Amino acid sequence: MLSFDPENVSLPAGHYIGGQHVQGQGALSEVKRPSDGRVYAQLRDATPEDVDHAVTVAHQALKTSGWSGCAPRERGRVLRRWADLIEQDPLLAQLEALGSTRPISDVVQHEIPFTAEAIRFYAECADKYSGDLFPTRDSSLGMLIAEPYGVIGAITPWNFPLSMASWKCGPALAAGNAVVLKPSELTPFSTVRMAELAIQAGLPAGVLNIVQGSGAVTGSALVKHPLVRKVSFTGSTQTGARIMSDAAQFGMKPVTLELGGKSPQLVFDDAGDTEVLAQRILRGFTANGGQACVAGTRLIVQRNIAEPLVERLAQLCREVKPGVTWQESSRYAPLIDARQGNKVSSVIEAAKAQGAEVIVGGARFADTDEGWFWQPTLLSHVTQDNPAVQQEIFGPVLTVQTFDDEEQGLAMAAHAIYGLCAGVHTLSLPRALRSLRAIDAGTVWINRYGRSGDFIIPTGGFLGSGIGKDLGRQAFQACQRQKSVLIDF
Ligand code: NAD
Repeated sequence: MLSFDPENVSLPAGHYIGGQHVQGQGALSEVKRPSDGRVYAQLRDATPEDVDHAVTVAHQALKTSGWSGCAPRERGRVLRRWADLIEQDPLLAQLEALGSTRPISDVVQHEIPFTAEAIRFYAECADKYSGDLFPTRDSSLGMLIAEPYGVIGAITPWNFPLSMASWKCGPALAAGNAVVLKPSELTPFSTVRMAELAIQAGLPAGVLNIVQGSGAVTGSALVKHPLVRKVSFTGSTQTGARIMSDAAQFGMKPVTLELGGKSPQLVFDDAGDTEVLAQRILRGFTANGGQACVAGTRLIVQRNIAEPLVERLAQLCREVKPGVTWQESSRYAPLIDARQGNKVSSVIEAAKAQGAEVIVGGARFADTDEGWFWQPTLLSHVTQDNPAVQQEIFGPVLTVQTFDDEEQGLAMAAHAIYGLCAGVHTLSLPRALRSLRAIDAGTVWINRYGRSGDFIIPTGGFLGSGIGKDLGRQAFQACQRQKSVLIDF
């Protein structure tokens, strides 16, 4: 039985620094449950002084604990134990479902196993990719030695709190760094529990620390701290630009930025079964209530198959039912809060003002208390410059555009700002290959949409969707700096 009582979940306190819960000194902020909008906790924001404390503790822990210098296989062993504890901890799953938009069944079936598997993947990386040897012109030896940066500042969004934390902490810790992580102020608790489990698994206290608070105060202090030597960020493109500028100004720090998207689903008339396509496209734009960077929110479909596909999609949209995240039967995620609800609503209104027509949805579900469950929404009659085609909405809204030939479809798939991912649906191999080359996006999925737990393949955006990669060995290597060495005999 996965359902649980939301009034009866034990919340970890405040910040987590040096293996201790710390109250902090900042202003109190309310934390709300997305499912019903109720305040369920208050937290103190970490002030710049609190952040300084956390970063100093992390820096000291690296000096005294031996984490950077121990046999990398030992780091791998600790990470594997951590992954096991993550999978076995019922409180972690409840904290994630209570505070985020993910229904408990989804957390247990996907978020927790994917979080654990990502950490296991980096446990395997720990003793690999440690450097290189080079032949040199004289009797000397050339080497490249990979070493940790030191303290890495990680900042995560609210949409997948646990897996985002694992994508940041897994590679950073496996490579021998310490981490100070700031989760989103909207979803603070599951990440603290995850850090407690890391210490239980044998990670030295102080090597992973959590600070809570707003981006403007806490996040900004973390990015600017002189002992933070690299910043790994996932969030909006606007915040990413700010962080990149701060990281450049305060110490020329390298950044990994995983940012927003507005991804096309390009469907050709040879893509196969309508039912399979409709189910795939529905999942692509409604998973987590559309609050996924990779959401496939622009359907671009060949005109001669558009009608039956859109009709079936609309039918599936009407069957979606809202339900609070702590009920085992719930499948559909609420929007994170009223602000996000108002944003979704205002983009739809702006789209309609420019000629868009609502095929289905377009409003909040009627019977959901203060929770913002948004009806899956299809918008037709949109031109390329319509706000619903251009803006990342971060809600379950799909625009529908039609095309006649491949060239026209590919032109519609291009986006001026974002280049995160794209789905291409065709059973013609030459067409699939032409399309994936033409599309300016960091990930292209052919005849599928989504990654489903393959951590060996990195992910990262082109254009305004980001810089660098999360996941894969590339993310591990991005947590190492390379020292060149020449030795004369
Ligand atoms: P956001 O940019 O508002 O906030 C993300 C994090 O940055 C939060 O922890 C926030 O407190 C912090 N922050 C804000 N201002 C800051 C500053 N000046 N300095 C330091 N930190 C600051 O994003 P969000 O609304 O939490 O998340 C949604 C966004 O994240 C969407 O755009 C989505 O596409 C993106 N996202 C991208 C990926 C990816 O892998 N590309 C994955 C998930 C989410």
